[in-house]
Amino acid sequence: MLSFDVVIVGAGHGGAQAAIALRQAKFDGSIAMIGAEPELPYERPPLSKEFLAGDKSFDRILIRPVAFWQERQIDTLLGRTVIKVDPAAHRLTTVNGETVTYRHLIWATGGDPRRLTCAGNDLIGTHTVRTRADADRLMAELPGVTQAVVIGGGYIGLEAAAVLAKFGKQVVLLEALDRVLARVAGEPLSRFYEAEHRAHGVDVRLGVAVDCILGDGEKVTAVRLADGELVPAQLVIVGIGIVPAVAPLLEAGAVGGNGVAVDPQCRTSLADVFAIGDCALHANAFADGAEIRLESVQNANDQANVVARTITGQEAAYHAVPWFWSNQYDLKLQTVGLSTGHDSTVLRGDLATRSFSLIYLKAGRVIALDCVNAVKDYVQGRKLVEIGATIDPVRLADAGIALKEA
Ligand SMILES: Cc1cc2nc3c(=O)[nH]c(=O)nc-3n(C[C@H](O)[C@H](O)[C@H](O)COP(=O)(O)OP(=O)(O)OC[C@H]3O[C@@H](n4cnc5c(N)ncnc54)[C@H](O)[C@@H]3O)c2cc1C
Repeated sequence: MLSFDVVIVGAGHGGAQAAIALRQAKFDGSIAMIGAEPELPYERPPLSKEFLAGDKSFDRILIRPVAFWQERQIDTLLGRTVIKVDPAAHRLTTVNGETVTYRHLIWATGGDPRRLTCAGNDLIGTHTVRTRADADRLMAELPGVTQAVVIGGGYIGLEAAAVLAKFGKQVVLLEALDRVLARVAGEPLSRFYEAEHRAHGVDVRLGVAVDCILGDGEKVTAVRLADGELVPAQLVIVGIGIVPAVAPLLEAGAVGGNGVAVDPQCRTSLADVFAIGDCALHANAFADGAEIRLESVQNANDQANVVARTITGQEAAYHAVPWFWSNQYDLKLQTVGLSTGHDSTVLRGDLATRSFSLIYLKAGRVIALDCVNAVKDYVQGRKLVEIGATIDPVRLADAGIALKEA
């Protein structure tokens, strides 16, 4: 049986940052990071961007090189999935039957891609994009593909569609709702991205339901829509969200459901067990205190820092401004704050210039910005979100007035 002062389950963004932050905080106890994937921690965002496009090799997306973990005596136990947590004994069991005990446990397992439940969902050629292995499988098939269907008009689906279009594939993007990015962005931004994708040759279909995936007995040949239409495809990418990977914790008695519930120090209801990142259900000040999960690198890293401080006896509480980015074609979107619950929007700049910001207001206060090719607005707008600034919408809309002056 292995024994560590801190065991981190999940060697992704949050897990890696927790280990890094513990050593930065001069924690000198033993640390192990247990990860289901065979790789050292790597950046996930490039999987639907530069890595998928072939512009960045895997080495360049490693969060730290191998020597970093060795030098800091952070044990990396990779290719191991934790299936059981015994909170009373402070003991974990992996799928291979190994047991590991901990003084503190940090659960940083992210989530598994939500899968289609319809017929044909397991045909060769149907992909999700969450891991390096997913991206490698997808990239290996690309040379034989002329027609691709992307199911889901969220960030990952849109980014993948942009890469495929760049490769010259015929891409059909299917979105069940009446606009892309409907859950995360205001309508002007959705319409802007729909138009951009169409201008790059992507056939964006809105308000469509998938009936099933058809194949030749082995490989995908088409997607059948609910109205009976067949959309031919040799490749299907499913980007319809994730299911937080928290089953072992919930089975151990942790409070939660859609994620595991944590307090401002990221403590779960189990003694000495923290949870961070995509799987952590937390009350977020930028969502009016609502219990949410955030799926972003920012959230995973900032929660990891809070846990490292808490374990090393420093005061900390999670109160970070949410931020996120998405790259599609030559468009760099940067978002700050959470737009959920906004009651009005202000467009700053001109959509036609492909450099603008959409500012979200709630009861007159700035709660979020989506900035497209507008880095200055993003940097200066951050402060407005932080303080919940109340600013005359006419001044906000005037791109001639810097946001910091507004
Ligand atoms: C294709 C893609 C593009 C993205 N683009 C962006 C972006 O542009 N900007 C942004 O901010 N965010 C982006 N994200 C989201 C971001 O990557 C996640 O929010 C972030 O990775 C969350 O970190 P995490 O540590 O919670 O989970 P992860 O990084 O997913 O790490 C979790 C790790 O835990 C492992 N694991 C799960 N269960 C177990 C278990 N039982 N035992 C052992 N190990 C386990 C998993 O295999 C995984 O390696 C993107 C995500 C994807 C998939």
